Amino acid sequence: MKYFIVTYGCQMNVHESEKIAAILEKMGYSEGSSREEADIIVFNTCAIREGAEDRVFGNVGNLKKLKKKNKDLIIAVCGCMTQKEQTAQKLMNTFPFIDIVIGTFNLPKLGYYIEAVKKGRQLEILSEGDIDESLPYKRTSGENAWVNIMQGCNNFCTYCIVPYVKGREKSRKEEKILDEIREIISEGKYKKITLLGQNVNSYGHDLKDGVTFAKLLRDICAIEGDFTLSFMTSHPKDLTDDVIDAIAGEEKIEKFIHLPAQSGNNRILKLMNRKYTREKYLEIIDKIRAKIPNCRITSDFIVGFPTETEEEFLDTMALVRQVKYDSIFAFMYSPREGTVASKMEGQISDEVKHDRVNKLLSLEKSLQKETKDED
Ligand code: SF4
Repeated sequence: MKYFIVTYGCQMNVHESEKIAAILEKMGYSEGSSREEADIIVFNTCAIREGAEDRVFGNVGNLKKLKKKNKDLIIAVCGCMTQKEQTAQKLMNTFPFIDIVIGTFNLPKLGYYIEAVKKGRQLEILSEGDIDESLPYKRTSGENAWVNIMQGCNNFCTYCIVPYVKGREKSRKEEKILDEIREIISEGKYKKITLLGQNVNSYGHDLKDGVTFAKLLRDICAIEGDFTLSFMTSHPKDLTDDVIDAIAGEEKIEKFIHLPAQSGNNRILKLMNRKYTREKYLEIIDKIRAKIPNCRITSDFIVGFPTETEEEFLDTMALVRQVKYDSIFAFMYSPREGTVASKMEGQISDEVKHDRVNKLLSLEKSLQKETKDED
């Protein structure tokens, strides 16, 4: 019996798919090389960007032919997109050949839903769930091992769907993380550990046992072995001096920080509910550069946020010019149903968004060229 997993979205989803693979292998399935030869196909979806959702609908729709040929084929859809009840219901209604639609918190029970398919189609969306420490992973990223340190997010940036589909922040106990990493290192095939969380800098806040992200980093570095350590993603408001000191002082930690700024304009940052100002952000960048001179810094930006004026967009351009990032990711704002920003007045036209994203990307290109020429 073969399985085939289709993964959309971020590294956290890639890691979730490693969990799905382990669940399926425990049930006796082995990895197939195509959808055509699979007995079960799992779509692990993403809700962050509109395009990803459209692709899921298109790709799931294309499976109708396969299901016609093989009526025993099981099709399951899970992940952030199906955590939204309306979307889950729409998938079930649009595609009567889908067998299982479950939310993010139902994943540990995937095996149960597969068994239950014999009794009929399965649709269940739990609204909350704890981190299941008993589930194994089938690691698939070569020398890199992903390690999840927390789930969920408390920040409610007004454009973002994550807190609604992943719930509030829940950190794993430090001892569990350290045990997992000791085991990974003892296997001898992983040279890199990447810690994952929506906002790793706030790791431990909910545990209230005195463990902070900086302490976790130092404790991981104290584990014997030949490995490097990195992490994603950082929120500027929670990036403490202690974390910067840990990165500067610990040899094993990669000198790299992805620090999403999202905008260079204070009014837009406030509307986005990012809880820092342009000045505060630049202060953090200065600290990083002073303490870790060789640190690579990258960032994310959203252009065309509701009501963003041309002058406010130019503040973003100026910030990018000033910081001279190693690279940036620029996105056009896309309204996600259920978020505060999707209901804001002053939505920007696609034409303007395209124009702004192109301007930002060509600025990025010219800055990269300048840096190369200087080298
Ligand atoms: S910090 Fe903001 S953008 Fe990041 S996951 Fe949380 S709500 Fe979304």
